[in-house]
Amino acid sequence: MTASMIQPVKGMNDVLPAEIARWQFLEATARDLLHAYAFEEMRVPVVEQTDLFKRAIGEYTDVVEKEMYSFEDKGRERLTLRPEATAGIVRAAISNGMLRGARHKLWCVGPMFRHERPQKGRQRQFHQIGVEAFGLTGPDIDAELLLLTARLWKTLKIDHVVTLQINSLGTSEDRKIYRAALVEYLTKHHDELDEDSQRRLQTNPMRILDSKNSDVQKVLQHAPTLSDFIDDESRQHFDALCEVLTTLNISYEINPKLVRGLDYYSKTVFEWVTSSLGAQGTICAGGRYDGLVEQLGGKPCPGVGFAMGMERLVLLLDELNAVPDSVAQTVDVFIVAVGDTMKESVVLSDTLRSECPNIRIESHCGGGSFKSQIKKADKSGAAIALILGEEEVASATAGVKYLRREQPQETVVQGNLGNLLNKFFTD
Ligand code: ATP
Ligand code: MG
Repeated sequence: MTASMIQPVKGMNDVLPAEIARWQFLEATARDLLHAYAFEEMRVPVVEQTDLFKRAIGEYTDVVEKEMYSFEDKGRERLTLRPEATAGIVRAAISNGMLRGARHKLWCVGPMFRHERPQKGRQRQFHQIGVEAFGLTGPDIDAELLLLTARLWKTLKIDHVVTLQINSLGTSEDRKIYRAALVEYLTKHHDELDEDSQRRLQTNPMRILDSKNSDVQKVLQHAPTLSDFIDDESRQHFDALCEVLTTLNISYEINPKLVRGLDYYSKTVFEWVTSSLGAQGTICAGGRYDGLVEQLGGKPCPGVGFAMGMERLVLLLDELNAVPDSVAQTVDVFIVAVGDTMKESVVLSDTLRSECPNIRIESHCGGGSFKSQIKKADKSGAAIALILGEEEVASATAGVKYLRREQPQETVVQGNLGNLLNKFFTD
């Protein structure tokens, strides 16, 4: 009896070698850009205390109410697989004493977990690149983050299909007053709201602004607008940000209904959206969270950041065919070993790997006929096959077969192979 197959966990995807070029292209491009902007990488655990997310994200948010993977470990600690990275980074910045009077520009990459209904662009394990800046209050850093993302889209060649939406949420006091006004208005229209919005009216009324229900949206048309409630400082901050964006030709749309799903935001919030991916169109989202550090037990310290969803970006790169050929996973050199040459071929491969560190060499391993190995060499995409048979071993040579150009096969002394390959692949 064969054992039954173990199924993958729903909504948690494998990334196969055939897809990896897009991921590596995205990661390398983002990493280089963040390095150039003088941001530093930081890594935090995938698991944190459940309370961290409850306190940071807010009890009455979709993430905390419905989407968290929480469990009790063997020591009875209440733990959660991180649904986002900002809370963990803030926790780490506080617990490592990083924020005392210091400024930090940080980024991190990794998997996040949310128990949502899996669909295109929405998984239960997904990946984000998160960027955070601490200790900076002005709109200049907000602008810099947006410029960084705009430059990333340009480098990835997806800039023509993404647009920027921004809004200001004001301070938490402003939002308290606004929330009361909104609740007063919506309570009058209680019966026109769908069930979800009726529930949110009690728990998190501002999330109703996000509702996809057209009846609810109709009611919202005459609801009070947040921008009428924000204080002068927030307004000036927002105006200054808009001015920089205009000066630098970054087009944006002010979306007064953009409130974001997490409680910790204040002042600037933004989303980069695309219409090329169907319903899951937000590829990057973030904003300012000036109160979060204090809320998590640190000394007051402003913060601003964003997270981009890597699965959605990879989908977009795929859809637009935007990954350059140079990122393809082909092999440069394929070593074919026929006859009784196993040991010599391992030695030759190892020598060439020392001599040609920048060349991608696949050593066939496993023997087989000349014909079948050459077939594999061809399929690997290699430009050159090195052939080692008993005759070559006896004369310390190898056959050099050019697989992609009209050039006769040659026999080359093994000591000269490194030079030949290095020259071939730099020309
Ligand atoms: P959405 O409205 O799509 O649920 P969100 O507001 O919950 O997004 P954030 O918490 O702001 O998302 O996360 C930032 C980005 O991470 C999103 O813009 C998206 O690109 C990506 N993202 C969020 N949830 C998922 C998911 N379940 N699967 C894939 N990507 C996701
Ligand atoms: Mg969500």
